[in-house]
Amino acid sequence: MSSQIQDFASSLQSPDYQSGPIIDLLKGNQDLTAFLGGETYNLLSLVLLACQILKHILGQDVVDTSPASGTTIKESWSQSCWLTPSCIVVPRSSHDVSATLKTIKFFGIKFAVRSGGHSPNPGWSTLNGPGILIDLQQLNQITVSDDRKSVVLGPGGRWGDVYQALDPYDVAVVGGRIPHVGVAGAILGGGLFHFSGEYGLAADNVQKFEVVLADGTIVDACADNNSDLFWALKGGGANFGIVTRFDMSTIPVKNIWFQLGIYTADQVPTILEAFAEWQKNGASDLKSTVTLVVGLETTSVGLLYSVPAEKPEAFAPFYDIPAALIAVPPTNGTINGLTQLIGSTSSNVPQRHDYRGASSKVDAQLYKDAYEFWKKEATAAREATGANMTFVLQPIPANVAKVGIANGGNPLGLLEENHQWWTTLVDWNDAIHDETVRAAPIRMTEFWKEQSEARGLQVPFLFMNDASRDQNPLSGYGEENVQRLKEIAAKYDPTQVFQKLQNGGFLLSRI
Ligand SMILES: Cc1cc2nc3c(=O)[nH]c(=O)nc-3n(C[C@H](O)[C@H](O)[C@H](O)COP(=O)(O)OP(=O)(O)OC[C@H]3O[C@@H](n4cnc5c(N)ncnc54)[C@H](O)[C@@H]3O)c2cc1C
Repeated sequence: MSSQIQDFASSLQSPDYQSGPIIDLLKGNQDLTAFLGGETYNLLSLVLLACQILKHILGQDVVDTSPASGTTIKESWSQSCWLTPSCIVVPRSSHDVSATLKTIKFFGIKFAVRSGGHSPNPGWSTLNGPGILIDLQQLNQITVSDDRKSVVLGPGGRWGDVYQALDPYDVAVVGGRIPHVGVAGAILGGGLFHFSGEYGLAADNVQKFEVVLADGTIVDACADNNSDLFWALKGGGANFGIVTRFDMSTIPVKNIWFQLGIYTADQVPTILEAFAEWQKNGASDLKSTVTLVVGLETTSVGLLYSVPAEKPEAFAPFYDIPAALIAVPPTNGTINGLTQLIGSTSSNVPQRHDYRGASSKVDAQLYKDAYEFWKKEATAAREATGANMTFVLQPIPANVAKVGIANGGNPLGLLEENHQWWTTLVDWNDAIHDETVRAAPIRMTEFWKEQSEARGLQVPFLFMNDASRDQNPLSGYGEENVQRLKEIAAKYDPTQVFQKLQNGGFLLSRI
């Protein structure tokens, strides 16, 4: 037993700290002795001891042992994720992350990893009670290479800061479209950008991941090194390690064309027909994309083109539908300008949130029927609880899958034809309404499943970045890919730290 403590303390030793004082803290601790001996112990005392060790080796500023009195837990976007762990570690380097994971593994305690904290799934990047939250917000570097062809991103950065930093270099990167979304969560779930039709998903634009494995080893994963892990991380989520650095290819996009129109509820069926027509024809111009946000009163249609333009022909199906309001007139602007504009329309008022996804092939009638069903659900939920519900139809051109294959492949199993990833977002205020509010999107996704299957329009893939806590996105990757992901997880994390000790997430062990 004392040799276990000795080995653990030695594994933490670095030029900055010595193992001696750690051994003094651990030796003679009754709970640790009982835990290591397989006897009954007090879990909370054990976790607090682990927090104390981390504070000792990483420093007072890095480990917060009274998170309830601070504001860090409230940095998660959704109020339903404001949960209080025993301590919060805010690492300054991958070495800090390594020491934290070694400690978590040694003590066998629960943990969660947060980058941007934008997942509304409670317990995914948050944790309540005995356990440690690893908050990567300090790892937020954005460093462009001399030739501007690549950029190093820290996991804790936000996409709004990324596009702002890249703007003077006349490049962009495939990332998240909303400025507050975090870098790591978005990429590890695939990462859908405005111009993914042309340039693929964010994960397909990663050249190299730096990953801290469960035993604290820091490795690179790229095409030439740990290539199986590289493949798995391109959409496989939080199953393999903690990513502390992304080396990404930049894309030559800065100046773009866009416009935004607002439409009334009675125009939605016409807009959905135009959207389906554009998906079938206009989307073959890969520079074009459409953002469609449907609400109960108003619906916004954004037309985006990845280079400056006048009136791109690709959007012909939309031009004859008169907008109730042109919120943004045809503009030759920048990707950074657009991102900041999107950010300025988001509310800063904290609320509870959930999102939920469904996919299908392109079909105007299915879209219109889903809208009618959704309208009833969204209206009833609002009347009962005050919840606000919107949905988005995200166009996925066949080229998204093709770019993924051309860039070495990924585990997603995407369909090589134009299709769509639907997602609904719901916002509400009171925890007593959690179940009632969530029932509406649940019924919606059941509708999508039944109706798309009945019409031969089903798509098994479900986008992890839009999936709610009870959905199972990994199972849609296909049996062969899931089996390979499991083998890779077992190779890099043989003791299943990420499957057994991680608090939540779309984990392979839960498929
Ligand atoms: C309003 C809104 C807009 C969105 N827009 C987009 C969009 O345009 N494109 C898109 O692709 N997605 C989008 N998303 C979805 C978003 O990408 C996911 O919610 C994503 O998980 C958020 O990333 P994060 O770092 O902020 O998340 P977090 O909540 O910090 O983490 C999410 C998950 O990733 C894990 N994780 C976080 N960091 C790491 C790490 N470094 N290593 C290993 N695991 C880690 C966490 O444990 C957790 O399971 C949007 C979501 C919302 C709510």
